Amino acid sequence: MRGEHAVATNVRINGQRLWDSLMEMAKIGATEKGGNCRLALTDLDRQGRDLFVRWCREAGCTVTVDKIGNIFARRPGKDNSLPPVMTGSHLDTQPTGGKFDGVYGVLAGLEVIRTLNDTGSETAAPIEVAVWTNEEGSRFAPAMVASGVFGGVFDLDYALSRADTEGKTMGEELRRIGYAGEAEVGGRAVGAFFEAHIEQGPILEAERKTIGVVQGVQGIRWFEITLTGQEAHAGPTPMRRRKDALVGSSRIVGQVNRIGLDNLPYACATVGMMQVFPNSRNVIPGRVFFTVDFRHPDAKVLAGMATELEKACHDVADDLGLVLDFKEIWYSPPVTFAPECVAAVKGAATELGFAHLDIISGAGHDAVYVSRVAPTAMVFVPCENGISHNEIENATPQDLAAGCDVLLRAMLARANAAPAA
Ligand SMILES: [Zn+2]
Repeated sequence: MRGEHAVATNVRINGQRLWDSLMEMAKIGATEKGGNCRLALTDLDRQGRDLFVRWCREAGCTVTVDKIGNIFARRPGKDNSLPPVMTGSHLDTQPTGGKFDGVYGVLAGLEVIRTLNDTGSETAAPIEVAVWTNEEGSRFAPAMVASGVFGGVFDLDYALSRADTEGKTMGEELRRIGYAGEAEVGGRAVGAFFEAHIEQGPILEAERKTIGVVQGVQGIRWFEITLTGQEAHAGPTPMRRRKDALVGSSRIVGQVNRIGLDNLPYACATVGMMQVFPNSRNVIPGRVFFTVDFRHPDAKVLAGMATELEKACHDVADDLGLVLDFKEIWYSPPVTFAPECVAAVKGAATELGFAHLDIISGAGHDAVYVSRVAPTAMVFVPCENGISHNEIENATPQDLAAGCDVLLRAMLARANAAPAA
């Protein structure tokens, strides 16, 4: 048994075939600037799904679709009572999306199966490739909704009733394109889940590393803050008599930035939106509304950042005689991936001789929700200038192949691991 499995670890995926498949998929919904537009549950999404399903059937897989349209292509193992080792990502894109975000993780999974077929390799546990519906959240909010149902985060009915701007629901659109499946969503054991993805950030490229060994995903806290002072004429009102809401807000923006810098290397702190009332050049601003986005992989540090922000807001408001309205509107807790899956990714990168780096994901992924119900990890590969959610998104065939080789090896390690007692 051991010897047989050792043979498979010398196997390499076919990088050219992976690249060709990516380019073939990219023809569906191709945009002028070289990107892709395949919004969830549109006709173009259906064409992308149909192509994937056809490829999987040609590779000998059985294909199952669940009630929220997630697709699972399964390659049997020697012992089909074992829970599958799963990989996958999403085929939907942003309106001006790229050729690799999500698609890479799906087609890397297909390439793993094709490679196992080429070499006649058997795995102990079955292998599955998943396509998660509506990851982007661009047509139907929220993002990652279907992997969220699988992970027990959202109810099925909630997800099916999500509507686009024209009032069309996910349920209606799934039926229309023929992907309202029969299978229950989740509720079954998954031995391990691995998602390969482009980094969507600049770190791997800057550090000249081929593989990102993803440790987890940052937690996020969102705040909405309103400071109210008093509008007054910019001329006759002496400086010391003013209640200037924008002066207060500016001080808080400085504090937000300082809190981010104080919690490096992982903290991110951003004021991305600000509305000034009445926004007139000769009126002292009487009211300012702004948002704060805090991110950190450690829940305690993130909570500490929030406490500091609230204190800073009160201090500024007191100092300037402003009225403060401070609300936390969203908290997405940090995710720490399963040590045995992270170790499988790191081990694979090391054994294959790829330069690699431990990294934290700054963006959300389907793996976040799947990690609620299955031991999970991710493999990142660099993307050009760290740019994603953009038609010019790019990655090299070599890096994509390297990530897929790591994925194959990590999946084999888990699929052939002795089942837990
Ligand atoms: Zn993605």
